[in-house]
Amino acid sequence: MQFRSRQPAVGKLRARVAVIASGVNGSLNGALGLVKAHEFLRAIQADIPLGKDGISNPTEVYVGRSVAPGAFGWKIPLGHGRVRVGLMCVEDPRPYFSALLQRVAPGLDRGEVKVRQKAIGQMPVGNCVGERIVAIGEAAAHVKTSTGGGIFFGLLSAQMATDVILRAFRKGDFSVHTLGEFERFWRSAFGIELWTGYLARKFAARLSDSLIERAFDRAKGIDLLSRLNGNLRFDWHHKAILASIHSLFAPAAGA
Ligand SMILES: Cc1cc2nc3c(=O)[nH]c(=O)nc-3n(C[C@H](O)[C@H](O)[C@H](O)COP(=O)(O)OP(=O)(O)OC[C@H]3O[C@@H](n4cnc5c(N)ncnc54)[C@H](O)[C@@H]3O)c2cc1C
Repeated sequence: MQFRSRQPAVGKLRARVAVIASGVNGSLNGALGLVKAHEFLRAIQADIPLGKDGISNPTEVYVGRSVAPGAFGWKIPLGHGRVRVGLMCVEDPRPYFSALLQRVAPGLDRGEVKVRQKAIGQMPVGNCVGERIVAIGEAAAHVKTSTGGGIFFGLLSAQMATDVILRAFRKGDFSVHTLGEFERFWRSAFGIELWTGYLARKFAARLSDSLIERAFDRAKGIDLLSRLNGNLRFDWHHKAILASIHSLFAPAAGA
């Protein structure tokens, strides 16, 4: 087995099993014919000073085709007068990010802003396991399709892979059959979350900005938040997504 270290070096290791946790960079997966992301969102963000506004304002989310096509933008207070501003979208995010910065911090000296850009994998396609190999985390596209968050499902998939690999060590069997239990575990834990978030984001991406405005007006009108009570969980979104779509877009009874 070959490996890459922080220093540009190539060497060989022998191991009974290997875990691929190399994030969105799919080169190892590609070489091994393992899982890949069906598509990529393009994310960009920066931490900026915002004076007093940065302390008092709550987290804000920005949606709409003109703001972040296919996904959304954010402004998150970090404390000490700083905020994290960013967005992800299906196109080149830079012009949208520039417009968002102008909106959030019009007087900002852009020369001092350290911008970070990265792709986010969405929807796993293919196998996460091979003979003596398991791909986890973003390397397996185990990333929320609703928000692009990869930490929670990444940790879950790491835990599940650990359990399956420990069992493989006990059996002395690292075949696809034994390691394949990992596929069943993650699919039953959060497979429906990935599908629901993905389809909902695709649906939302087709809405015009005026339709999004109307959806927000309707959400306020019917007090959607209280209807979702019980379905709102920080890391589990599919029930809230389905209930929201039903409340906002299903024709009213008798209509
Ligand atoms: C702008 C932005 C904002 C985000 N915000 C959030 C958020 O608020 N909440 C959230 O949950 N998620 C967020 N995410 C997603 C989250 O960062 C990732 O999904 C998560 O870091 C994936 O974790 P991972 O351990 O699978 O991969 P990574 O964190 O990407 O780690 C993979 C590691 O493997 C190394 N590596 C790659 N190739 C090789 C190789 N060949 N050999 C050796 N090492 C290799 C990489 O250098 C890296 O250190 C955000 C992503 C972006 C781009």
